[in-house]
Amino acid sequence: MRFLAAGSPVRNGTALRCVTSRRSILGYYAAMTERGSGQRLLAPGDPSPFTILIPHGAAPVVLLCDHASNAIPAALGDLGLDEAARSRHIAWDIGAADVTHHLAGILDAPAVLSGFSRLVVDCNRSHDDPTAMRQISDGTIVPGNRGLEATARALRIEDCYWPYHRAVTGLIDEVAARGVTPAIVSVHTCTPVMKDFERPWHIGVLSNHDRRMADLLIAELARDSALCIGDNQPYSGFDPHGYTIETHALPRGRANVLLEIRQDLVDTHHGALHWAELVGKALANVLAHPDIARATGAEVKEAS
Ligand SMILES: [Zn+2]
Repeated sequence: MRFLAAGSPVRNGTALRCVTSRRSILGYYAAMTERGSGQRLLAPGDPSPFTILIPHGAAPVVLLCDHASNAIPAALGDLGLDEAARSRHIAWDIGAADVTHHLAGILDAPAVLSGFSRLVVDCNRSHDDPTAMRQISDGTIVPGNRGLEATARALRIEDCYWPYHRAVTGLIDEVAARGVTPAIVSVHTCTPVMKDFERPWHIGVLSNHDRRMADLLIAELARDSALCIGDNQPYSGFDPHGYTIETHALPRGRANVLLEIRQDLVDTHHGALHWAELVGKALANVLAHPDIARATGAEVKEAS
């Protein structure tokens, strides 16, 4: 087994909090007002912006899948992309929904999956982040995202982005109402090659300053000596662009981890099931640890 060390320096956790500027808030609400009442992006026949699995699951964890789907609302056509481009990793996390479905069943865990492509709006970004509606991604230009006006952006945010995050908040609150402090596991997959670099890691375990889950999970996964595990690779939990963990886990001191499973390992149903079983077994042991299903005091104080 190879361990690859964390790639990013430790930074002050407070610098990672998502802060929406006053200017962006004003722009957003101005656009919402402009669009007038009743205008919607989604129409009958479009998928739901989120899917909830096993809402009453017994496991003390909520699984999240920000990049589960490559669906595009009918009103946006195909964003100017052919089917091959819409099937690439730029549009979604290939295999992530499949892994999350299996993982939820294996753990008996509640889960929320996003309903639309990250090219429509990326649910793991602040809605005003420059990469929330990418005009170019991994060398592919996205014609339908060029020159988006505030109204068009606001429609995507209102109909696709907030419903997902409200569903996440609601589900976590439901679990918490049972007297459980749920851990948060964000399930992602990553492309095996990025900018001509072949990623050696089978799975990346990303964490921020709260390493409770990451340390335990890496130790569990490392029982399999054939696994190449990335500790804060190929991305880092300290990267400033994330939103979901930063919003739904860190401010409340909930134990958390973000997984990046390599897409070539989970792009078949068989592969997804295999990895869900592997990760599920490890996570079950992690979740049984007394240190996980509780909030850290310092961070709760910080959020109050
Ligand atoms: Zn992802």
